[in-house]
Amino acid sequence: MRVGIIGGGPGGSVTAATLRTFGHEVHLFEAETFPRFHIGESLLPCNLPIYEAIGIDIKTFTNHNYMPKNAAFFELVGKNRVCRFPFADGLPGDPPSIFQVERAKFDHMLLQQAAKLGAIVHSPVRVTKLDLPERPGISPIIHHDGGKPGGDEKLTVDFVVDASGRETLIGRQLNLIDQEGDLKRAAVYGHVSALPLVKGAERGDIVISKSPIGWSWQIPLEEKKWSVGLVLKREAIVKGGTPAEVFRNNLIHFPEFKARLGDQLPDPVRSTPNISYRVRQRVGNRWALVGDAGGFIDPIFSSGVLLATRAGWRLGQTLDKHGANGNLGEWGRTTDHDLATFFSFIKLWYDGHFIDNLFFADHREPSIYRGIISLLAGNTTNLDNKFLAMLNRRMQAHKTKTLILGN
Ligand SMILES: Cc1cc2nc3c(=O)[nH]c(=O)nc-3n(C[C@H](O)[C@H](O)[C@H](O)COP(=O)(O)OP(=O)(O)OC[C@H]3O[C@@H](n4cnc5c(N)ncnc54)[C@H](O)[C@@H]3O)c2cc1C
Repeated sequence: MRVGIIGGGPGGSVTAATLRTFGHEVHLFEAETFPRFHIGESLLPCNLPIYEAIGIDIKTFTNHNYMPKNAAFFELVGKNRVCRFPFADGLPGDPPSIFQVERAKFDHMLLQQAAKLGAIVHSPVRVTKLDLPERPGISPIIHHDGGKPGGDEKLTVDFVVDASGRETLIGRQLNLIDQEGDLKRAAVYGHVSALPLVKGAERGDIVISKSPIGWSWQIPLEEKKWSVGLVLKREAIVKGGTPAEVFRNNLIHFPEFKARLGDQLPDPVRSTPNISYRVRQRVGNRWALVGDAGGFIDPIFSSGVLLATRAGWRLGQTLDKHGANGNLGEWGRTTDHDLATFFSFIKLWYDGHFIDNLFFADHREPSIYRGIISLLAGNTTNLDNKFLAMLNRRMQAHKTKTLILGN
């Protein structure tokens, strides 16, 4: 089978590497020259077994000097309340740690691994259009620029994987994007030098500060390089001036974080003005959407890279088993389940004080505490997880609109 993949982020590279482990012909098109900046630097433990399956073990991570991440740490702004969730306290079977990564370096590593396994990487080459057949038996055609502006070259494939991230190539081409479930949030972010450790946190922890107007992240990437960002209501960012002005002016709402920054400010400050969107159809005739190309919600629980990675890994296996014309229904359902589970968790975060009581309570019911950690590690399917069961019940009781396609 010959598979064409659009995008060399985690979703595209993991799909490519997985398909190569089964010996399929893979052409991956990446518009940019790697290494390139990308946001999304805090990984979840459940990523690790998938990277191991494509030949990237824990030693590879340590050889690259990525920062180990053993816990997620949260603080309630202005309330002097904090909580730390060490992954080692999760449910049996969940990996106890992972890494914080500078995506320029990390995405390059994944792409190189896909190439090492035999994927043909076309980069920098931009896919401009797809001919997607409506009937089975006809092959899709990928149109690309061949690396030259205005170029028009073609490749016929048996199956197309759109892993083009927020560019959502197929979603736009087929007009499948809508803003249902839009949380109307936007982000401003960048890198600074070292930040002091918050009392109660440990080296490598991601620190999330929750304020009534939004939340901020502080992620150590190296000893002297931290990723910092603010997620706020979209209006605050769109109408607040340049990204640097928005960042600086809103620090007033995060006094603890502001104090830790001292006189440091990221330079440059980048922004993502429309965080969430939904794509109505994940699978079509000989095509599928992986990762952000199939929708994105909110980065509060650092789920984006895992959702892209897991969808790509499962898709590689499913295509190998069922072929280009096979039924991808089960793959679509499990991928939607992942997205919907995190969506309900994120809704809780934004739902009044529910999460404040759950996360920052003095006495947490042990099974709920361990269940929260298991989900924070990325495990969306553990039937023994009482917190997950509670989340599902709440979702049904409130008839939460999820991103489950077809619901
Ligand atoms: C503010 C913010 C903070 C975030 N923080 C986190 C976090 O801490 N942890 C986490 O896990 N996730 C985080 N995310 C989410 C994370 O960035 C994404 O979910 C993740 O990168 C998705 O991977 P992907 O492979 O689907 O897409 P991407 O990583 O975006 O890769 C898509 C690739 O496709 C290429 N491409 C696009 N169009 C074309 C084309 N036409 N032809 C060829 N190539 C093309 C692009 O150049 C790009 O390299 C965050 C997101 C935001 C907005």
